[in-house]
Amino acid sequence: MDILPKILIVDDNVNNIYAIEKLLADLHIEMIRARSGYEAIELTARHEFALILMDVQMPGIDGFETVEMIRKEEQNELLPIIYITAIYNENYYRTKGLKSGAVDFIAKPIIADMFIGKVNIFVNLYKQRKKLELEISQRAEIERELHKAKNIAEEAARAKQQFLSTMSHEIRTPLNAIINTANLLREEEPRPDQLDNIEILQFSAGNLMNLINDILDFSKIDSGKIEFETVDFDLRKLLNGVRQSFEYEAVKKGLELVVQISEAVPPVIRGDSVRLSQILINLVGNAIKFTNKGKITMEVLVISDLPERPEFLFKVIDTGIGIPEDKQQFIFESFTQASSSTTRNYGGTGLGLAITKKLISLQGGTLELNSKPGEGSTFFFKLKFIKSEKNRLEEEMLMKTSFGSLTGLRVLVVEDNLVNQKIVSKFLTKWDATVNIAENGRVAVEKVAHEEYDVVLMDLHMPEMNGYDATKAIRSMEGDYFKNLPVIALTASAFLEDRDKIYTVGMSGYIIKPFNPRELYWKIEPFLK
Ligand code: ADP
Repeated sequence: MDILPKILIVDDNVNNIYAIEKLLADLHIEMIRARSGYEAIELTARHEFALILMDVQMPGIDGFETVEMIRKEEQNELLPIIYITAIYNENYYRTKGLKSGAVDFIAKPIIADMFIGKVNIFVNLYKQRKKLELEISQRAEIERELHKAKNIAEEAARAKQQFLSTMSHEIRTPLNAIINTANLLREEEPRPDQLDNIEILQFSAGNLMNLINDILDFSKIDSGKIEFETVDFDLRKLLNGVRQSFEYEAVKKGLELVVQISEAVPPVIRGDSVRLSQILINLVGNAIKFTNKGKITMEVLVISDLPERPEFLFKVIDTGIGIPEDKQQFIFESFTQASSSTTRNYGGTGLGLAITKKLISLQGGTLELNSKPGEGSTFFFKLKFIKSEKNRLEEEMLMKTSFGSLTGLRVLVVEDNLVNQKIVSKFLTKWDATVNIAENGRVAVEKVAHEEYDVVLMDLHMPEMNGYDATKAIRSMEGDYFKNLPVIALTASAFLEDRDKIYTVGMSGYIIKPFNPRELYWKIEPFLK
């Protein structure tokens, strides 16, 4: 940008102005004349000057008075002004001149070189200032743009999260019904040919549920919204649980599925057992998928037995097709598979390893791989857990296999979805519990007010009044019964924010849909009097 600084020359004598203009003719500036103090004041209101050259003795208002007036305007507070005077060395004028805000004096008759040099300094200072101002305003503009872009991005992320939360609920609700219905059908002693079909139904619905969970998890991790729980759990049981859930598939493919746990692993440790299961399920699932003969081994070793933070090495070893070296670094990226024929032959989305890797690294570990095509793959990672005070889990109760009778247990099921109502009541009636249904939160609050229950199973999203508000309403009623009545949320939501909210409104726990009948049983059984 080319800056043309303006200089105001104030003098009642036009010949003096000519003389100054001549001296400064070679500078790259625009010179503007004022023949009186008033004219000068008026011009400073209309122009931005780099410098004023001010005569002192003028008829009307003199130079000092003019400068005082000019300084009154805020934008002129720092405007450089040089007095040009024949009597500058008299002390009176000097003090008065400085008081009125001059920056310098130049004596008449003017010494040309010195004068041009001084003016030049101010011209250059002005130019530098202008450049800086421009830079600052450009930066401010960029900052504004960045801020705007950030807001848009945040808004988009929020919308995405909201969309996923809504969609997950919408998809999970009917899917729950499918899974639960399949579970029920299986309980009703089907013929062998029917059992085959039920199993296909269960398998496909389960897969669909996994896919939705994967997408939800991925988006949650993506937006940094994931939190980890710390609970007591039994690592041996967890691994055997993972093994059991894949046993059917392994047997079908003629594969051996082995768990090897070091003796040194303590019976109970603390950490996020759900996420650990998820990690292992992903890895073992892949191992089975990409292995056609041989065996899959899940191995756990204790690598550092620090009293507070024991560290374990987990390995999932297979004897499968292996992964070519040049593909090994890519398979951890989202939506990436080792070969384009993978989806066709084996299915999958390419999200599993990206999620698994993130889940491990967010807990301080690294997922690594050793693999040789044709020989097999070993996925391994280290994770630290917390030592537990306990030697045995109370939740072992949960593993009991046979269900005793719940005669006398009065359960209120609050659920708007007819299929879900039916499924929950079917299980409850099977266990001899007394079931009452409320189709939304408002009805539930009325029922609780007029009848006594031992436990309430509360859906969260319902028309008229949702589960959170209904619980709040119940808790706010007068009397111990309303304060202590156990309310268990039935939620299809995988979002932890929702789980936090469950406790905030005063619920006692939650069951994630599609519920495992065993979990439902053991969560309500303690309320049998
Ligand atoms: P998906 O299995 O859904 O395709 P993943 O992210 O879990 O996605 O895996 C990405 C790719 O890594 C797979 O498609 C496969 O090509 C390769 N892969 C993962 N685990 C194994 C394994 N145990 N043996 C051979 N290839 C594997």
